[in-house]
Amino acid sequence: MQDKRIALVTGANQGIGLQIAKDLAAKGIVVLVGSRNLENGKKAASEVGASAHAVQLDVTDQKSIAAAAQRIEAEFGHLDILVNNAGISKIGHPQGPVEEIVRKGKFSTAKLDDIRAIYETNVFGVIAVTQAMLPLLRKGTSQRIVIVSSGVGSLTRTLGEGGEHLRMLFGMYSGSKTALNAVMVGLALDLAPEGIKVNAACPGYTKTALNNFHGTRTVEEGAREAVRLALLGDDGPTGTYSNDEGPLPW
Ligand code: NAP
Repeated sequence: MQDKRIALVTGANQGIGLQIAKDLAAKGIVVLVGSRNLENGKKAASEVGASAHAVQLDVTDQKSIAAAAQRIEAEFGHLDILVNNAGISKIGHPQGPVEEIVRKGKFSTAKLDDIRAIYETNVFGVIAVTQAMLPLLRKGTSQRIVIVSSGVGSLTRTLGEGGEHLRMLFGMYSGSKTALNAVMVGLALDLAPEGIKVNAACPGYTKTALNNFHGTRTVEEGAREAVRLALLGDDGPTGTYSNDEGPLPW
């Protein structure tokens, strides 16, 4: 396995993460399909192909993260690509369009525990997984860390001209992605001297469980930018925030 490129995708059992896993596998990369439920991960890995392996990984559970890192070390010896994709937008099961979901997530009224839960997955989960996987990435080559962020985390777009819809949506989910962008910048600055590139991708409004399947883009379209960043050449940038149309304002 030492000569094969190895990628770990978190939350790869469904949605955009599963599509990222499929796209990376199609490039000949060995994909580790992170899933908090191992059975769901195994099912997804079988869809991805023979070179995919399910890895139990709950990004909010330090024991699960440590066990995943140990297993990857033992079975694969290194990691070249880490895609931090796992994320949540809601607590419980609010039905209906995204407006219904965000109504429960306004910073002025949302339950503090709910805001903490969103940040635990979307922000701290990314930090925890990245820290745990760094020793394995340091044994890899042309290392790429991709952070699946969102355009709704752009404060410039939210507060700017034409940002009415984003202002209406702004709440704990958007705020968690703003914070995640700061984490991405911090990681990019820290890891630049080692040549490890860290970039954030916005999938666009994609039809997945996250928005009760109200999104307008396909998972193939949603995965595109994250996959591009995972496969960046050695002359590629670090510390960027973009969608498949180009850079996004912070
Ligand atoms: P999704 O279909 O709901 O997938 C989310 C994935 O994250 C699932 O595999 C889920 O696992 C996993 N996950 C959630 N909490 C986890 C945890 N604690 N540990 C490990 N995995 C966990 O939604 P999606 O749209 O594909 O979301 C993927 C990423 O894209 C997220 O970061 C999201 O914020 C971002 N994004 C999505 C959109 C959009 O319009 N869909 C737009 C911008 C950004 P389970 O199946 O076990 O729940």
